[in-house]
This record gives sequence, structure tokens and C-alpha cells, in this order.
Amino acid sequence: MGLPFLILLVFACCAHAQQPKSIAPYVPATWKAGAASVIVTPEKNLFMAGYASRKTPAVGKAQDLFAKALALEDEQGGRLVIVTMDLIGVPQAMRRAVAMRAEQQFKLPPAALLMNASHTHSGPGMRTAEPTGEEAKKPLALDAYEYTKALEDKLVAVIGKALADLQPARLTWNRARCGFAMNRRRDYALAPDDPNSKLAPNPNGPVDQEVPALRVESPEGALRAVLFGYACHNTCLGFYNYCGDYAGYAQEYLQANRPGFTALFLMGCGGDQNPYPRRSDVVPGISDLELAQQHGRSLANAVEMAMTVNPRAIRGPIRSAYEEISLDYAKPGKLPHDYPVQVIHLGPDLVIAALGSEVVVDYSLRLKRELAGEAAVWIAGYSNDYTGYMPSLRVQKEGGYEAAAGWAETIEEKIIGKVHELHRRLSEATK
Ligand SMILES: [Zn+2]
Repeated sequence: MGLPFLILLVFACCAHAQQPKSIAPYVPATWKAGAASVIVTPEKNLFMAGYASRKTPAVGKAQDLFAKALALEDEQGGRLVIVTMDLIGVPQAMRRAVAMRAEQQFKLPPAALLMNASHTHSGPGMRTAEPTGEEAKKPLALDAYEYTKALEDKLVAVIGKALADLQPARLTWNRARCGFAMNRRRDYALAPDDPNSKLAPNPNGPVDQEVPALRVESPEGALRAVLFGYACHNTCLGFYNYCGDYAGYAQEYLQANRPGFTALFLMGCGGDQNPYPRRSDVVPGISDLELAQQHGRSLANAVEMAMTVNPRAIRGPIRSAYEEISLDYAKPGKLPHDYPVQVIHLGPDLVIAALGSEVVVDYSLRLKRELAGEAAVWIAGYSNDYTGYMPSLRVQKEGGYEAAAGWAETIEEKIIGKVHELHRRLSEATK
């Protein structure tokens, strides 16, 4: 092999080690996009959310928590804002208050606001109702309320900042895969009657390991933001430090070495999914924090792949629909719950369905199957509401942790039916 050939080979190899390729000029930059972020790490050491076993407040932080906003505007001036948060959930009262204020201040229709939480178990507990009576004497209860009130202001401000940042942009979409999410329920098929079965985590259980990624670039092809998803609990960590867990690290790694770039995590239907391996007693010599970082790196790598390979152009217009449906409990004495269902179309290319609370993975798999068509389909959970687990009929019949709330067995059909109804309505409006 002669020297010139070797040099050529080196150059050819280097050509692959580059930033995600822009698809300019093949796709015109018909969008406007803006992104903003704000630190929402509490200044005080509050009680942390996620595990009932924690009896004392936080002691510090391993990583800052963020709320971020991605604003999109189509050629007709139609808008969409997606807010993501490194927090346990989106309390319904907070969603309603933020949506109302965003409508008043920015003329953003409530249906065009999607609020999603990563469900990190290393964030603060939130409290939307002012403590009264004995509760009002507890400093930690008052602190949680004050934190949540201030958070609401920060969320409105970050939405305004993202809208003020709207600049010409090109949108593309693709997906990759990432393997650490595993079904955390025991294998009911193998041991239907044994509640103490050790068949969990369950490699035979359903998972959704897709990593969808919406990439935002400038007309010149510079990367500006990515919105990416994964369906898995943020529960690598159970310590007393604020941290975004694997999703926090994935966002941090994607942003590292890319000044001015914003990575936003949209939590999927991970109600029955955990990150594995999980907890340091499973892997000798590796701490929980290192596992969170490893899973974060693994997810960030998948996003890099999704941004690199054959990006699909996303066109407008934006169409969005949001409705709350009344879901009943089978358990006596529990009032029906107003449950939010949101569907967003980005032209003929992308359908996003955002469901409230801790939706199990069956919803994502079923909706992707039933909505499959020309458009790519992206299903988010943990959006616009936080009211506990939303089991599928299969999970309800099996029983167990995710079925314990006692919902009526009609909820899956009601939720899926509403997604289809909103999807049809938006499809007809675009015709
Ligand atoms: Zn959970």
C-alpha cells in the first residue's frame, strides 16, 4: 500500500467523525424556533420527591435541575411551546396556571403548550396548595409551597424567553435505540399467582427503547437544539442530592462542547420501566451516580446517532388539540379525575401524543401501532398532569404496583379513543 493511498484512507475515515450533517440546502428553513432554559434547583434543602422511604430533606446537589422551553412557529404564525423539566411530575394545578398565564401574556393557545417532567426521583417535592392549619407550622411544607410558586413564575418566564428567541430554523427528525430500559414488573406469564416472584426486572416484558429526536438547526446548518425522548423511570439514584438522574446527564453530555445548544428531554411512557443495572449493590465497584452517568452517556450517544443518520425533514403547519376526559375509579369513594390528552401534528410528518401522569409502556406501543402511517409517531407520558400510575388493561388484570390506584377498567379505551379522536380532528383540519 503506497503512502498517498494511506493518507487518502486517513482522510476518508476522518470524514465520518464529524458533527451531525445538516440537510441544507435540500430542506428549506421554513420554521422559526427558539429555546431557553432556567435553573430550577431549589435554594433550600427540601423534602425530595419519588420515594416514601426518605424521611429527611435533601443535603445538596450532584447536578443542577433545569426547566427548558422549545418554541416553534410555522409559516402561518402557528405556535407550539414544549416545556421540559428535571422534576418528578407536572402538577395539574401548575399546568393550568402556567397555561392561563402563557395565554394572557404571549397569546399562546393552551392546546399549543405541552409540559412534561422527566420524573427524576432526585428533585424536590412540590406543593401547589398553600399549607393551612398544622401544616402551616411546618417550615418544610411552607418551603415546598414557596418553591412551587416561584417555579410557576420561572416556567412562564422561560416560555416567554423561548418565544422571544424565535429565529429562522430547519427541523428534522429521526430515532435511534438505547437498551438500558427494562420492564420492572415480574413475569406474570411465568408466575401468575406468585406475588413474591423474583422474576423482575423482566426481560420478557414489553419495552419501548426508541429514542426519538427532533433536531433544530439554523438556516446555515448550525445545531441549535434537540428534543429527545425515552421511556424509562429516572430512578438510578436514591440519595439526598438534587440531580436529573440519567436524563439530566444525557442533556448535560449533549450540551457539553456545544455552546448555545439546548438539549431537552421528553419523558415517554416509562411507568413500568426502570434503568438497569440499577443500584450499586448489583454492580460491585460502581456507584449509583456512576450508573446514572453511564446510562446518561448511553442515551446521549443514541441521540447523537438519531441526529446524524438520514434526518427526515419536518414540515408545518402546527396543529394542536388538548382535552381533559373524566376517568373513573373502580375503588369506592374516589372521585373521577380530569385527565389530559394532547395531540400535536407537525404537518404531515410528525404526530406527538402527550398523555398525563405515569403511563405504562403498553400505551406507547399500542398508539405507535395504531397511528402508524406516513407521519412519524412520538408518544410522551408524564405530561400536563401528575396523578400516579396509568395502567393498561393488561396491567390492571395482572395487578401489582402500577395497578394499585384502582382505576376502572375502562380507562385504556377512553384514553386511546380520545387520542384517535383528536388525531382525526387535526388530520381533517389539515386537509
Ligand atoms: Zn414513578
